Amino acid sequence: MSTTTSTIAGVQVPAVPTQLYIDGNWQDAAEGGTFTVIAPTTEERIVDVAAATAADVDHAVRAARAQIDGGAWSRMSGAERGVLLHRLADAIERDAETFVTLEALDIGRPAFEPRAVDIPNTIDVYRHFAGWADKIDGRALTPPPAFGRERFAYTRREPVGVVGAIVAWNAPTMIASWKLAPALAAGNAVVLKPAEDACLTALYLAQLADEVGFPAGVLNVLPGLGVDAGAPLVSHPGVDKISFTGSPEVGRGIGVQCAQDMRRVTLELGGKSPQVILPGADLSAVIPGVAGGFLANQGEICAAGTRIFAAREVFDDVVAGLAEAANGVTLGDPFDEGTTMGALINRKQFDRVNGYIAAGQDEGAELAAGGGGLDRNGFFVKPTVFAARESGGNDLRIAREEIFGPVGLVIPFDDVDDAVRQANDTAYGLGAYLWTGDLSVAHQVAARLRAGSVWINGPGAPDARLPWGGMKTSGIGRELGFAGIEANTEEKTVVISF
Ligand code: NAD
Repeated sequence: MSTTTSTIAGVQVPAVPTQLYIDGNWQDAAEGGTFTVIAPTTEERIVDVAAATAADVDHAVRAARAQIDGGAWSRMSGAERGVLLHRLADAIERDAETFVTLEALDIGRPAFEPRAVDIPNTIDVYRHFAGWADKIDGRALTPPPAFGRERFAYTRREPVGVVGAIVAWNAPTMIASWKLAPALAAGNAVVLKPAEDACLTALYLAQLADEVGFPAGVLNVLPGLGVDAGAPLVSHPGVDKISFTGSPEVGRGIGVQCAQDMRRVTLELGGKSPQVILPGADLSAVIPGVAGGFLANQGEICAAGTRIFAAREVFDDVVAGLAEAANGVTLGDPFDEGTTMGALINRKQFDRVNGYIAAGQDEGAELAAGGGGLDRNGFFVKPTVFAARESGGNDLRIAREEIFGPVGLVIPFDDVDDAVRQANDTAYGLGAYLWTGDLSVAHQVAARLRAGSVWINGPGAPDARLPWGGMKTSGIGRELGFAGIEANTEEKTVVISF
């Protein structure tokens, strides 16, 4: 196994494998290619990693198939699979700081975020699904007699087979766990294609899966570019299901390909989530939460609450409060004391976000805070707050399109009906946030919002037990909780006539 260590911004990069993990072996890519992983806060090279292509995908899918079609994995009981998942969770917990360091350096986010959210969530997700592994049962059914004979039926929940998991870069450890843990608990074998911009924790995870004793071929990890490694995985005839997290643009193409091939697919895509501050909310109490809703992880969060709806009578106060919160953010390196926001993932994302900030100004939105970057290396963008005082703010480009950066837009509403109408007036439907002291109104509004999750008076933090997924352009299907098991099993019906 090739590993590499270097120092970035004074922090030692943990030793991490840099090759492909296929059938229990670490190996170079078949075509010998590599790509360079860059630290977003310094633009320095962290490491070069093997770049998988179609031949590697084919190799990995065959290894996974062999485990499904009679291999040791297919003969293991759910209880045995659960033990392995528990061991993996324990190993991640033991090496939690390594995951924190890798993720903070790889994405350029402050270390406290993965330490507080992503890595604990990842451990919890593996443990949660370890618990499911021996409880994935079918149902007993009593259909009416047919042709004069009594009938009894039962269903079996069987693994879908080989799952291709393709992951975005913004929360890579956690998102990978949402795919791997339920798939493995249900007895599937997985080929994981991490994002080229953040693949280090996936490689480290493969090392731990190997250490704790998953049979070779059950988990394969193939870093590589989307078109070179992701696309061949999506169209490989040996793959039974694709679980994808990423942009709607790529997700749409994957959905079309999977429909053509009749392959199962789960799509976790982008968002343009509303945050509705209902009339009467205590602004001093809710502003920090609203700000966190679009500024955490540099705004690179699918469920970021970037459209903030405020009643006209408190509009100016909300804009001023959010501007103050944005101005209070400290941009810097992940491990610097006091850093509360890092850098965007790469130059392309930096240009994209700055392009949207320029578009907001061109369209006449008022810039209340932020705009621009820092006078140093790294893809830093200052947290930015726009205000659209006139009606029509929800029609601006910065309200319609996902920016995936620290940019929020405050839009006024006239009454609760108007807030609901505007909140739902979007192509997306991943999450929605409600801020209020009136819980009965909150429940009424929650029922009217077209979003996969509604968070009342709190952050959109995911939990292993709670279904996660989107409506409309935000995707198809759900992950986590029992929905994660359903998404990774086929329900087979067995009928007995007597
Ligand atoms: P992306 O679509 O560019 O890439 C996602 C993954 O797909 C990467 O691994 C990439 O290599 C791969 N890929 C690219 N082209 C491919 C192709 N033709 N075939 C197969 N795979 C291909 O998205 P991104 O920039 O990595 O992530 C940002 C997007 O992800 C945002 O839209 C964000 O909202 C979304 N996201 C959604 C969720 C969710 O849970 N709904 C979570 C995180 C991110």
